Amino acid sequence: MCGIFGIVTNNQEISVGKVVFDGIKRLEYRGYDSCGIVSLCNSKLYVKKEAGKIDEIYKNVKLDEVPDGTKLALAHTRWATHGTPTKQNSHPHLDCLNKIAVVHNGIIDNFMELRNELSSTGHTFNSDTDTEVIPHLIEDFMKKGFNLKVATINALKKCKGAYAIAVCQVDNPDTIIVARKESPLIIGIEEGKTTYCSSDIPAFLPLTRKCYIMEDNELAVLKAGEVNFFDLKNDNELIKKKIQNIEWNIDAAEKGGYEHFMLKEIYEEPNALRLTMKISEQLLSKFANALLSADNIYITAAGTSYHAALAGKFIITRFLGKHIQDIECSEFETQLKGSLQNNSVIIAISQSGETIDTIEAIRWAKKAKSVKILTITNVVGSSITRYSDHVIVTNAGPEIGVAATKTYSTQVLALALIAVSIAKIRKIISDEDIIKYYDALTGIPNIIDKFLEKNVDLIKYIVNNLEKNMNYFFLARGISIATAKEGGLKLKEVACRFIEGYSAASAKHGPISLVREGFPIIFIAPPDETYNRLVGNVMEFKSRGGRIISVVVESDVKITKLSDITIRIPQPADKYHNLFSPITFMPALQLLAYYAALAHDLDPDKPLNLSKTVTVH
Ligand code: GLU
Repeated sequence: MCGIFGIVTNNQEISVGKVVFDGIKRLEYRGYDSCGIVSLCNSKLYVKKEAGKIDEIYKNVKLDEVPDGTKLALAHTRWATHGTPTKQNSHPHLDCLNKIAVVHNGIIDNFMELRNELSSTGHTFNSDTDTEVIPHLIEDFMKKGFNLKVATINALKKCKGAYAIAVCQVDNPDTIIVARKESPLIIGIEEGKTTYCSSDIPAFLPLTRKCYIMEDNELAVLKAGEVNFFDLKNDNELIKKKIQNIEWNIDAAEKGGYEHFMLKEIYEEPNALRLTMKISEQLLSKFANALLSADNIYITAAGTSYHAALAGKFIITRFLGKHIQDIECSEFETQLKGSLQNNSVIIAISQSGETIDTIEAIRWAKKAKSVKILTITNVVGSSITRYSDHVIVTNAGPEIGVAATKTYSTQVLALALIAVSIAKIRKIISDEDIIKYYDALTGIPNIIDKFLEKNVDLIKYIVNNLEKNMNYFFLARGISIATAKEGGLKLKEVACRFIEGYSAASAKHGPISLVREGFPIIFIAPPDETYNRLVGNVMEFKSRGGRIISVVVESDVKITKLSDITIRIPQPADKYHNLFSPITFMPALQLLAYYAALAHDLDPDKPLNLSKTVTVH
């Protein structure tokens, strides 16, 4: 949700316009309703902003051109929460005197009251956003004689809600003030030369690998090549923070020859999974033991991570001998108020580690009872890790495509590894079986590699054949219901099609009434214990004229015979591999969504109305 980027430098060789433009482009996955850049030069603010995606805007407005000698600039790419995506509502927002500029990620909950208050004392507003109250509040405090830093602190004291902000002001041409509460903010630094602020690391990765991760309720004063941090909760005291070195390879944040990040990230799945396999035994047994000693267990997440949770819950309960309750994180508090007990364990999953609903769910649970939080995320040091007792980092590398692909597979793999660790501790299966499950997990990347090598043309063929049909189903039973739901979500996200992922058994209690001659139904059909019943469901849909496309293993016979087209996953037909089919079957559905988006002339990296990291409620 919204990307912020800023630079302040004393390096004559840097082209500030180009750096700030490239930086904000790298954050475009966070929001692409509109974009704006403000540069500060000769005691004046130069603002360029417009609605639309950055490349479209660039055709008319050269966002990277700033006055000669510019040393400081801020940029913003927006995912609108308050006010339609128009030029006027795009950031930066200024005060009445055009001296202060603010870019913001988050929501100021009490903006109405603040706006009324400010309007009554003569402030004029130019947008419908919540953000615009911030520059006007700072303006008021500066008028009262406070310097930029203290005026910003005082302004933030009046704001309720969530924010990452960056502020500049014409009389402080060498300073950017930033602050965070709930929305992410990272400071990149080339000591003595240049300082950057950004909503995410990939935006400054080509420029520096040294960074500070800001925590909630921290404010920082950025000058060229130096930064000081202050604790807003503790008398604004100066705090020392540890500089971190980013290990990521820069290629990870570039398209590397692929047309889209989504496609690149699907092809990265095998290697991402190989890295997830390296999670230490020790950490896995910490998760396993926490689950084994818990009285109640919940698993919570949102979107794709929630589907990973559904698949993972299924795998873990095979060996755990206890129930796990899945709850969407936005419903967590509402559903568990009054029933959450001490000694509960909550597994929380968030790719970015910044998903506000997931963080709020675990924060509430921690306050309410004595609970343990086990987190699975892809981002080291992300906000969610601060509320967690144990953290597994999936190590999938940065995921820029808005629709999650490789991070889904790695989340399910992490959960599967916990499951096998539980089986080992409980000794409920033989050592030989444990080895076979491990071997099946280790073999997953090769299965996906093989699948991707051979099946792209088939997927394109299917997409071209489905094109005219607006709606269809993904149906499955057992563990594959999670796969069907996630496949349906991918198609909704990137191809703008209403595709329902549903239980094949439940589909006859209603949805089957949609089926007409030629209506496509995609069955997810690994040869597990649900297979024979699924054959019956395929028959039910086929006999009503449904066009059957099935995803099966290579040796499949029965469902293949009943299908018009089959997608064949090159994996053995045994119980060890079947249990992990949510991982091996998913790339087929991700590719289907990807090529369906292209067939509809849609950009799969920038789905309509979406943004990658949901940091607002
Ligand atoms: N509330 C701000 C706006 O609508 C920022 C939105 C966000 O960070 O998603 O402009």
